[in-house]
Amino acid sequence: MEHLRSLVLNSTYEPLQFTSARRALILYLLGKAEALEFDGFQFRTCSTSYRLPTVIKLRRYIRRPYSAIVSFSKKNVLRRDGHTCQYCGKTGGEMTIDHVIPRSREGKSTWENVVTACRDCNLEKGDRPLHMAGMRLLRDPQKPKTLINTISTVNAPDSHIKSWTKYLNHYR
Ligand SMILES: [Zn+2]
Repeated sequence: MEHLRSLVLNSTYEPLQFTSARRALILYLLGKAEALEFDGFQFRTCSTSYRLPTVIKLRRYIRRPYSAIVSFSKKNVLRRDGHTCQYCGKTGGEMTIDHVIPRSREGKSTWENVVTACRDCNLEKGDRPLHMAGMRLLRDPQKPKTLINTISTVNAPDSHIKSWTKYLNHYR
């Protein structure tokens, strides 16, 4: 279970971070968190076994540290988009940043106008606005309310990712 991760939500359901499944289980057993999702993974001791929660919600509200305020940067745009091309849905490989309204047409570098794009889509779109390129976005880009490092989701069991997605997408 050492490699397993669990998603931690604030008492408001806002995603805060990923933590080890072991720590999530401890927070749950101590009554500091509520377990919202399980998916069949267990932690066994000699005498007993526990279901590992894949999502926990803290009972008390945690004020997010100042550093958690999301600044606009290429790295954070990639994180917001889960390192997924917002045109074709491809994940992994080298990703670029695309201005939906091109800079040549006064498009700004803002959360609402910048998305993650794979090289092929970026090249195909070129300097054209969406309707002229005949391309569509998977979702409207927005300023994220929270930004947790979704790299933790790489190599996680599918059942874990499934249980995380609804909580993560809700806050995107
Ligand atoms: Zn693409």
